[in-house]
Amino acid sequence: MCEHGFPTRAAERGSALRTCPGKKAAAARTGRRPVPHISVSKPAVAYYRDSVAPTSQPASTAVPGVKKHDVSLYQFFAPGGVLSRTHPAYEFRRGQLQMAQSVEQALEEKRHLIVEAGTGTGKTLAYLVPVIRSGKRVIISTGTKNLQEQLFHKDIPFLEQALFPDGEGRLNVCYMKGRNNYLCRKKLYDLTGQPVLSGLEEIEHYRAIAAWEKMTQTGDRAELAELPEASALWHNIDARSDACLGQKCCSWDKCFITEMHRRAMESDIIIVNHHLFFADLSIKQQAEYAPDAGILPEVGAVIFDEAHELEDVAGSYFGVSVSNGRVEELCRDVEASLQRNHLLSVSMSGALKSLRERSMFFFALLPQGEGRFSFENRRDFLEENGDEFMAVQQSLARLRSELENLPSKPEEVFNFARRAQELQVQFGFLMESEDPNTVFWIERRRGGRDKFNVYLQATPIDVAPILKTCLFDKLECAVLTSATLAVGGGFEYMRRRLGLEHTQESVLPSHFDYENQALFYVPPDLPDPRTPQFAAKAADRIRRLLEITRGRAFVLFTSYAQMNDVYQRLLGELDFPMLLQGDAPKSALLEEFRLTPNAVLFATSSFWQGVDVQGEQLSCVIIDRLPFAVPSDPVVAARVKSIDAEGGNAFFQYQVPAAVITLKQGFGRLIRSLHDRGLLALLDNRILKKAYGRVFVESLPNYRKTTEIKVVEEFFGVV
Ligand code: SF4
Repeated sequence: MCEHGFPTRAAERGSALRTCPGKKAAAARTGRRPVPHISVSKPAVAYYRDSVAPTSQPASTAVPGVKKHDVSLYQFFAPGGVLSRTHPAYEFRRGQLQMAQSVEQALEEKRHLIVEAGTGTGKTLAYLVPVIRSGKRVIISTGTKNLQEQLFHKDIPFLEQALFPDGEGRLNVCYMKGRNNYLCRKKLYDLTGQPVLSGLEEIEHYRAIAAWEKMTQTGDRAELAELPEASALWHNIDARSDACLGQKCCSWDKCFITEMHRRAMESDIIIVNHHLFFADLSIKQQAEYAPDAGILPEVGAVIFDEAHELEDVAGSYFGVSVSNGRVEELCRDVEASLQRNHLLSVSMSGALKSLRERSMFFFALLPQGEGRFSFENRRDFLEENGDEFMAVQQSLARLRSELENLPSKPEEVFNFARRAQELQVQFGFLMESEDPNTVFWIERRRGGRDKFNVYLQATPIDVAPILKTCLFDKLECAVLTSATLAVGGGFEYMRRRLGLEHTQESVLPSHFDYENQALFYVPPDLPDPRTPQFAAKAADRIRRLLEITRGRAFVLFTSYAQMNDVYQRLLGELDFPMLLQGDAPKSALLEEFRLTPNAVLFATSSFWQGVDVQGEQLSCVIIDRLPFAVPSDPVVAARVKSIDAEGGNAFFQYQVPAAVITLKQGFGRLIRSLHDRGLLALLDNRILKKAYGRVFVESLPNYRKTTEIKVVEEFFGVV
């Protein structure tokens, strides 16, 4: 055994080949609801509409259902219990029962809990059952839409059946998506008066949406299967908060967002995603004295599933972003509205023209570059280009004053004036703030022919103090769970990054037999992945591994450049169908992978998590290198600098733990059930040679480990 836990060659040779076991198997704002009763089992399009009792009674007046202690957690999860009698694939999972007990304790004692529960624990039931028993109104926030759908369409209906077979109990459940998933009726009606549509396809889409609007009860675009994901028309008529008039809107009473808010107020369980949760939290934080701001009601607890994503998502919502596109969008909205209302005067047109020109000029002056890069020299930039910055600010002020001076103006004009003011304030912050906990940076993305979208960004360097103050200190109970939260068996990294104090903690035993189900291979002879020789050698080794596994693999990379390089080297060299990220949408690629025998998928970060392929079709996951975040990324660089400046060691306190979590996510794609079996290969042998490698090895499940290709061959019966 080497110091990192890999067997020495002699030990490996001496070990017996293991065979695959898999081949063998209340009142609206109290945050409490008095009665835990469940019901939801609806078709996909029904969502929250049908998940609420037809009478729409507030939860506090609902009829009594199962009493809290009718069924103990043990009686539910243990052998011979409710779950064993109702679930067709029941197995007793010790970790599941332990997790349920920890969640129940946290809910009862009003404490925060952080729990790592590996794939196969059955963690959704492990938190849903105590949530239902608690009688509290709870928000469940997830990282992915897949998990939201699983909770709403599968897990909760299953529990309803299991706990309330006679249908007596009923639980109000609300499934909420981000506002841009819903139709804004006002925008659609405005467009109906004066449709500005480009092309036949858009006209067709407009007709379909206008007809659908008359029937839909949710306004959720998911009901419009034929509408393309990137529809420009939808972008102009969705219910994003930017242009929303709130209670002053003439469509307020029948607005889908109003309806969603009402449903949420009546619900016992509210299922959202992290983006919606933090968007709502940041709105509430900005409007501290407006108790009705935001759409999520007060709750007794929040369960964050897939909680490893919290820092990134929270960072994006507590930051500030201004772009040339956002300025243009304001100009376009003002123009369209005033034209519609016959209010577009010569001086207003002049104000819009001036803002457009000055904004275009200013954004063109910003430091050049593509992608994300830091904007550290803002002072120097302002010294040189202060006049141009002031010119944009003055144009925004002029537009605002023109709007405010309009006689008998429609309600939306007030909203435009507010948006102009918001842009002014945010521009000021982005260019002039000296906030030490903020990193300022620029993102430039290609947006079509010769066009660039340029974003001026400000992101909190450390979200921990913000989350502590405005989330964890205010919440009675937060449960954070994921398959990948612990580093080296503990949660210090997560606690520090998220501002969590005084938490209960638990790392649950896995339900899988990783030692027999997965072989972890690291080639000791490949060059350092940072050297130019690496790609050619890595491609050779990938080819050999794929021959052994007969394809059936994900080959995951840390960069597009490396992915494309290796893909090109292997094109025409493999006997298996090769799929490449970017050649089709993610869901289509995954579907093709599932349906194509022996397929090999080459992909980057978006396939490292939230992807579930069970069975032999995925028998191998190869990762090119340890997934350290790009050190030149402005947010990463600022965090590293900040930790070092405070006397810490950013490499060990931030970069290594973050990479450990990502690696665990990537390898987590392979073993998705008790019957899965396969190879995990990491082509980066720094995990063996560097001192920090030990942290990675100790954080991974106890896969059987090898450095010899012969053992890989034996594992797959290729001799
Ligand atoms: S309230 Fe807002 S989202 Fe709803 S219809 Fe009116 S403008 Fe659109």
